[in-house]
Amino acid sequence: MRVHGDAGGRAALHFGAYASAVERLATIVEHRELARVLGTAAGYFPGIERIDGFASQIVALADHATFSTEAGPRGARLVVAADGARSPTRDALGIATDGKPYGQRAIVGNFGCAGPHAGTASQWFTDDGVVALLPLAADRRDERDAVSLVWSAPDATADRLIDEGPRAVAVRLSALVSSSDAPAIGPLTSLGPLVKVPLAMQTARRMVADRCALVGDAAHVIHPLAGQGLNLGLADVETLFDVLVARESFRDCGDVVLLRRYERARAEPVLAMRGMTDGLARLFDDARPGVVRLRGLGLCALDRLPPLKRLLMRHASGGA
Ligand SMILES: Cc1cc2nc3c(=O)[nH]c(=O)nc-3n(C[C@H](O)[C@H](O)[C@H](O)COP(=O)(O)OP(=O)(O)OC[C@H]3O[C@@H](n4cnc5c(N)ncnc54)[C@H](O)[C@@H]3O)c2cc1C
Repeated sequence: MRVHGDAGGRAALHFGAYASAVERLATIVEHRELARVLGTAAGYFPGIERIDGFASQIVALADHATFSTEAGPRGARLVVAADGARSPTRDALGIATDGKPYGQRAIVGNFGCAGPHAGTASQWFTDDGVVALLPLAADRRDERDAVSLVWSAPDATADRLIDEGPRAVAVRLSALVSSSDAPAIGPLTSLGPLVKVPLAMQTARRMVADRCALVGDAAHVIHPLAGQGLNLGLADVETLFDVLVARESFRDCGDVVLLRRYERARAEPVLAMRGMTDGLARLFDDARPGVVRLRGLGLCALDRLPPLKRLLMRHASGGA
């Protein structure tokens, strides 16, 4: 993984699996693959009824909650809402959110590489926002390596990039790659359209309500620059699972005591990740020359401190 600071990318930070004594620093899985595999796995689990369509009209009663689905009404002792940043369940439960828009949009798209990406993720902090190129499995059509772009750009820049189109963006990215010591993957070619996603930070004031728990983006949305949003949601699920498995025999799984345990266990990790991503987003959004110089120095200093880098890496990959 290579992180390039501003000032022409001269300030850089390198992380390697070898130096960190791990098999790999991270695993990149495309969303559609994740959804496909989870969908298949759900089909093999007895007790899972899959209903394609939206759930609505959730009502929490004393010993269970009810809701409507396209297959008719359903009831459950515990409803886990994983319905995303705009969570209709969260709204129906009257849980308010705090947050702020970043005034940025993420431009997302896939690009084919002329050279091997060597499993390296590259990120550049530029005057036009944060550009990340993440290595994908080889493009099935012609076996070339491919990368996925996440470019968090100020609103006006994002609009301009969308207007220019994927081919022009490929040219910009190729120039960025060749100006730094990232693997020589250029010239890049576009593999499809660009998509634009508005970026905001958002936190639900509560993660639980009667007979309901929020997980994932329904509970918290963070800036994508550290690639940790889904990981945070998966950790919610893991914690909720652990709390439910360890419950006392006299409690049912929607017991308010269990839900509070879950909420308490997630408070600190969510706060820490939100603080880290928001702090980085603000630090690299500041164009004052003194700040630019300081963060460049910070990146170079960090690159020369292997123990601190290892600690940072362990934290980013979900270790202790
Ligand atoms: C540009 C960008 C790049 C990112 N990159 C990374 C990354 O590299 N790594 C990482 O960990 N995270 C990343 N994230 C964050 C990650 O995408 C989100 O954190 C993650 O998708 C949240 O998952 P979720 O299941 O909570 O919500 P979502 O992915 O939003 O899924 C919610 C689902 O609920 C469904 N739904 C909504 N309402 C209902 C209803 N009433 N009934 C039934 N279903 C409903 C929706 O259709 C949707 O399928 C990135 C985010 C962005 C914007």
